[in-house]
Amino acid sequence: MTKDQKICSRCVLPGSFPGITFDDEGVCSACRDYEERWRGWEEGLPERRKALDRLVADAKAKKRAFDALVPLSGGKDSIYVLYLAVKELGLKCLAFTMDNGYLSDLAKENIRRACRTLGVEHVTYSWDPELMNRLFALFMRKTGYFCSICMRGISAATERVARMYNVPLVLGGSSARTEVVLSREMFQSGPVPYVKKVLAGEPLEKEARRLLYQGGPSRQVGYRLFWWSGRKRIWTCAWLDLPDYMEWNYDTLYKVIKDELGWEAPPDSQEHTDCGIHPVSVYLHNRRFSGLEIKRLTYARLIMAGQMSREEALERLEKEPPEECPESVMNMFLENMGMDRAEFDRYVDMGPRFLEYQPRPNPLFLAARGVKRGLKKVLGKK
Ligand SMILES: [Zn+2]
Repeated sequence: MTKDQKICSRCVLPGSFPGITFDDEGVCSACRDYEERWRGWEEGLPERRKALDRLVADAKAKKRAFDALVPLSGGKDSIYVLYLAVKELGLKCLAFTMDNGYLSDLAKENIRRACRTLGVEHVTYSWDPELMNRLFALFMRKTGYFCSICMRGISAATERVARMYNVPLVLGGSSARTEVVLSREMFQSGPVPYVKKVLAGEPLEKEARRLLYQGGPSRQVGYRLFWWSGRKRIWTCAWLDLPDYMEWNYDTLYKVIKDELGWEAPPDSQEHTDCGIHPVSVYLHNRRFSGLEIKRLTYARLIMAGQMSREEALERLEKEPPEECPESVMNMFLENMGMDRAEFDRYVDMGPRFLEYQPRPNPLFLAARGVKRGLKKVLGKK
């Protein structure tokens, strides 16, 4: 058996996954890395919960109109974050949703139901759909990937709303423990230096500048202080992901949001009810990384997290139909971008080119990190 045909004896990742290796027991490097990174996580939960409670107390002590801002995509994780923030942490929450022009009706309905049930106020921040479509096309043409600009839009809109309402705490639902396994060739988020580099010299550069908003100096300093304190106290503001602090079991999660908040999954899957063009990004990934379909990568992570058995994953991969992007969705998106199918597929087949636009690390940041590590060593902390 060649390395490419091999499948991990513990999860379902194949040898064609970029950079993967297998040990003597046939266990893949992603499984081993996961084990290493999250070892002792369960045992550390009470300690992390204590840390979370202190941060929550810091946010409440500011006595603002809202303690926390919860960005809602309409998907399962963000809705569950809102539920926990209100019901378990007792935070006065403001919910907000960014509309990239493709927010699905089902997502809107799920958001409306959840906010109404929990008695939470909600605002929508909509970018100009025309601008977003031109940016999607630009990013596709230059980098072979269009999701980054939406990620940037979410961050910029979150900061605008947080600043507007003077909210100290932002609560996210991203979890490295349970999210799909991806290599750096597969996903590029939207940090400002990267987006700036892609936009440089483009006619859209000036117009797109508002997507580079990072919350103004006081919030930026606040976030840095929070990180530099080891995420222990909030001075002005903080951004944290709840799955880093709380149990994130999908059986529980689905049950809670369905039973208590009337959350509805789309008929064909339980993933991504939120973004109307998500099927296009799945098409892009699956065409580019044949044998490494999104579904397989998602199941691999759930196995690592102990939330699915390998047998169940293999059975599902065998039985379930492949993920498809409806022609109507693809055509609508292509028309909005002003791109034809052949051109789009050409960019997909050229592979990811976002690696060419990676910014060089800021020398000041590297120096500061070096000093911090040196100090920790001297002071004898781990
Ligand atoms: Zn594995």
